[in-house]
Amino acid sequence: MTTITLVRGDITDQSVDAIVNAANSSLLGGGGVDGAIHRRGGPEILEDCRRLRASHYGKGLPTGRAVATTAGALDARWVIHTVGPVFAEEEDRSELLASCYRESLRVADELDARTVAFPAVSAGIYGWPMDDAARIAVETVSAARTSVEEVRFVLFDEQAYDAFTRQVRSR
Ligand code: ADP
Repeated sequence: MTTITLVRGDITDQSVDAIVNAANSSLLGGGGVDGAIHRRGGPEILEDCRRLRASHYGKGLPTGRAVATTAGALDARWVIHTVGPVFAEEEDRSELLASCYRESLRVADELDARTVAFPAVSAGIYGWPMDDAARIAVETVSAARTSVEEVRFVLFDEQAYDAFTRQVRSR
């Protein structure tokens, strides 16, 4: 059984086995939660990302996929980088967003991680409406077959926290 917990705060403050990063496909850093993770985690994370680009992902990590690196100076063992889809009115990309959660948990299982913190993937710079992002996140994690014991959604602001709370309560 995976327990879902909700926390309002900064994901870089969390003590967990793995912190999930809402990365972009370059894996070379960006704004939002990605910027915060690299700032706080230090250069080791970027070094690992560069190695991954060179060895496996010359064209970048595809949307919906996930890959792990060291967590550097963060209080976690790994950062799992996943690339959320950019929200688009004209195309339903929900399956790609669900894939981010599934693939991140699959990588967490490979690492034997038991506690995993997620941000609201795609719901910032990538423009996904928060209520829908929360629904997909909670539904996908609830349905996942995983050995992860705790999935902690770490929501940066009240609007995100409230949206996730509604989803968890409605289940
Ligand atoms: P994306 O590009 O996938 O939309 P963002 O990082 O822009 O990713 O935003 C994803 C979510 O993460 C947003 O709800 C944003 O407010 C939130 N966020 C930004 N910084 C942090 C942080 N340090 N900890 C947790 N969540 C954060």
